[in-house]
Amino acid sequence: MAKPTDRQPERLLIINGPIFTGGADFALLEGHGLLLEEGRIAKIAPLRKLRSQGTRQIDARGKLIMPGLINAHMHFYSTLVRGLGKAAPAHDFDGVLHNLWWRLDRKLTLEDTYYSALIMMLAAVRSGTTTLIDHHASPGAIPGSLKRIARAGSETGLRIGLAYEISDRDGAKAAAEGLTENAEAVLYCRDHGGEHLRALVGLHASFTLSDLTLARAATLAADLGVGCHIHCAEAASDQEDCLAKHKMRVVERLKRRGILGPKTIAAHAVHVDRIEIETLADSDTMVVHNPQSNLNNAVGIADIVAMKAAGVLVGLGTDAMTVDMLEELRVALWAQHYGRRDPAQGFAEATGALFSGNPAIAERIWGLPLGRIREGGPADVILVDYDPPTPLDAGSVLGHIVFGVSQSAVDTTIVAGRVLMENKALKLDIDEGRVAARSRELATALWQRF
Ligand SMILES: [Zn+2]
Repeated sequence: MAKPTDRQPERLLIINGPIFTGGADFALLEGHGLLLEEGRIAKIAPLRKLRSQGTRQIDARGKLIMPGLINAHMHFYSTLVRGLGKAAPAHDFDGVLHNLWWRLDRKLTLEDTYYSALIMMLAAVRSGTTTLIDHHASPGAIPGSLKRIARAGSETGLRIGLAYEISDRDGAKAAAEGLTENAEAVLYCRDHGGEHLRALVGLHASFTLSDLTLARAATLAADLGVGCHIHCAEAASDQEDCLAKHKMRVVERLKRRGILGPKTIAAHAVHVDRIEIETLADSDTMVVHNPQSNLNNAVGIADIVAMKAAGVLVGLGTDAMTVDMLEELRVALWAQHYGRRDPAQGFAEATGALFSGNPAIAERIWGLPLGRIREGGPADVILVDYDPPTPLDAGSVLGHIVFGVSQSAVDTTIVAGRVLMENKALKLDIDEGRVAARSRELATALWQRF
């Protein structure tokens, strides 16, 4: 199977659609085109200056041109749970982990990991999500698991962030294997990842990690020059456990163990107090908000308005609820409205998390200006069907995206100048039917082991 990342990107001219450039200082450009060359956005200019011979053109008439979307917290491994009815109902977050996720992830094989990732990556291409930062767990099959996800990433052409969730919940051997798996992934990405693959040191959460394991992970991350990726105060029980066992709150513990910092992702931060928010801001730690998951698990709604006001870098993830970032964006908005009992609050914070927070997070990890359409930047571009029924300009475009574009189909997905999907048809050497069939076989076997 040919790897998309091995192939040469095309020289492409995208014309005739309005361009939403993304980033904190986004613009809405009319009458402009994009020239993509050697994996970069070579030129953004008025159409009359861009007409060039010998370049394949993509006509974006009736479509909005946007930067490829970024998912800053994902778990590919949860794919094969879809429809599984064998888990006993859980009435709190610990029950969800014990009845479902920790029973499932222990039974995953390396092939399950590969297909779980491949299925969701194909869905990501269809959703216009071009960069995904994953957090993997398969305690019964740790060694080599991140390379399986990397392989699926190479085959789909997406940009993937890898991490293995180190935890003490499965004993010392699994914790040691988790450390090694992260270390090998960082080195593998350095040697073979090009501009597509990166790795962080993954950690499950404070309540399943000993001080010794946290210290080992912090040392490993520092030695390798990367950050950590950890669940942080997702449920109140994480705080209760930390106060009971360590006589301090979760963010304080992570700070003391050397986990926080500008390269580290703290996912969730639902149950953090004012002092912890200040600590996250002072340490410049990246927080990733996952509203659909938080609502689904009934753990609460993270106060991203307070976090942004305190200067925390806040991004948006899905925690595997979806790979459709515009769906997640909408729920982020409704959750802030409801959480604050004020429908006027949260718009700038929710849209900012996706269009400015996630690009900033991805840039820290990849060292590339991802998630923005800028000259010289990576050619990660999507086209979404959209003919605006009301005036479209820089002042209205975010409203169009939340209420209209999010309800439209992604037509074209381009990563590093390579067309992965065009006219809603995948341009990959992957037989989707065969992949789904094999996935169903694997899921059937997994459910029997569950
Ligand atoms: Zn998660």
